[in-house]
Amino acid sequence: MSKLEEVEYMKSIGLESIIGKTHFCHTPVFGLTCGQCNPCKDALNEGMQYRVSTFGRILGFFRKYLYYYPYRIVGRCIRAVLQNKR
Ligand SMILES: [Zn+2]
Repeated sequence: MSKLEEVEYMKSIGLESIIGKTHFCHTPVFGLTCGQCNPCKDALNEGMQYRVSTFGRILGFFRKYLYYYPYRIVGRCIRAVLQNKR
């Protein structure tokens, strides 16, 4: 059962008010979901973007495009330089 199916099931039995009261983030920032831990990533990837705070999504964007990708590019450049020196 996927997370979306679980939400639909909760709605079908009348427990939709509980969904917003559950916590899943492992490292909340100022009490908000971080958008970076694995449960937050799962929520974002499985179509439950509304569960992750906008602040968390902004942090995730900066992490992905300003930290992770440049870090990988620099790592590839360093590896290429080191391999050429051998
Ligand atoms: Zn999180």
